[in-house]
Amino acid sequence: MSRYKVSDELFEKALQAIPGGVNSPVRAFKNVGKNPLFIKNGSGSRITDVDGNEYIDYVCSWGPLILGHSHPEVITEIRREIENGISFGAPCLKELELSEFIVKAVPSIENIRLVNSGTEATMSALRLARAFTGRDKIVKFSGCYHGHADGLLVKAGSGVATAGLPDSPGVPKSYTKHTLIAPYNNLKATTELFEHYPGSIAAIIVEPVAANMGVVKPEPGFLEGLRQLATAYGAVLIFDEVITGFRLSFGGAQQATGVIPDLTCLGKIIGGGLSVGAYGGKKEIMQMVAPQGAVYQAGTLSGNPVAATAGLATLKVLAQKGIYEELQQKTDRLEEGINNLLRQTSGEFCLNRIGSLLTLFFTLKKVNDFESASSSNMHSFMGFHQSLLGQGIYWPPSQFEAAFISLALTNEDIDKTLKAMEKALAFA
Ligand SMILES: *Cc1c(COP(=O)(O)O)cnc(C)c1O
Repeated sequence: MSRYKVSDELFEKALQAIPGGVNSPVRAFKNVGKNPLFIKNGSGSRITDVDGNEYIDYVCSWGPLILGHSHPEVITEIRREIENGISFGAPCLKELELSEFIVKAVPSIENIRLVNSGTEATMSALRLARAFTGRDKIVKFSGCYHGHADGLLVKAGSGVATAGLPDSPGVPKSYTKHTLIAPYNNLKATTELFEHYPGSIAAIIVEPVAANMGVVKPEPGFLEGLRQLATAYGAVLIFDEVITGFRLSFGGAQQATGVIPDLTCLGKIIGGGLSVGAYGGKKEIMQMVAPQGAVYQAGTLSGNPVAATAGLATLKVLAQKGIYEELQQKTDRLEEGINNLLRQTSGEFCLNRIGSLLTLFFTLKKVNDFESASSSNMHSFMGFHQSLLGQGIYWPPSQFEAAFISLALTNEDIDKTLKAMEKALAFA
């Protein structure tokens, strides 16, 4: 009998009701050659599927669960809050507390608007940047993901001044022609876009540390250069910190790098596992948002007390002393262990790691942009992933995603993971 029998049965049913059987494509395990698992529960560093198999979890809901699953303080706070009702569509104390908390923590954020997802945050920030500058075009980087809003579903344009083509049917070219693409870490190509369209570019949107093509670090000078370009040409610099916010440091990548954007997008961790996103930045810009200003943006469930409570409880734990040092130490242990294994193995690898984010690519290239990330051997990745899963390690089921290290991960978990990796690398 298959160890995934119940998951397989549920997936068959899901395929009848839901396109592809999943409510977000990356869950589908398409790149790793098997059906996705249905997860029954999670506690600390572990999740258990409906067949009763237990896994050490390196997905952590794709980033929000930096404290691990079912953190007692988060669960207690949600329980307490939910007793008072779930949503009112009117101001509540918890949304104010969460907002004030973030304003205090994130250097660029003077004013903030809560939304329900990262997608809403980036979409709204771009609308605002366009309104603020009176310009239409935006610059994004190939391999950066900013949610699924129309104008952002564009990856690589060929040539410096080429307008983007949509990645998805259903997205009008007339819209994505305003999305200009440069390779990540390529300041020269970005500069050329500004030289080609001076006075037309409303915003640069960037993941200050890219984590949606696997983990790719900004090279020294890249973010500083973007800051200078945006200032010189009167464009708005938007950091999409949906993953990096409250992960790379308490104040996100901007605090870690010292490069301060005009607007910042948040999501994932600030909802503690419930649906919360946010965008914020300079007061001067944020005051243009309705009802203060004319830029319309709204949400029925935005800032609802239960989601705000989950986020606030999570951020309060993260505010405790030594938390980021602890995350750093855990990830150091994992990184050093993997590097030891790689030294003993012949094969093509590139391990990228920053803070509590990590990706192992199966290539000899130094991965610093989408093109080099794409050189990873997908067949090797599949073998690696399948072997890990069979040994109770739930690694992200895509080469182009980060592994997320949580505070719940123990040294024993890490050592077990390294043992499993030793075997898995033989299948890569
Ligand atoms: C996940 C993600 C988003 C989209 O957030 P959703 O909540 O999935 O809409 C946007 N930007 C980045 C960098 C992300 O990682």
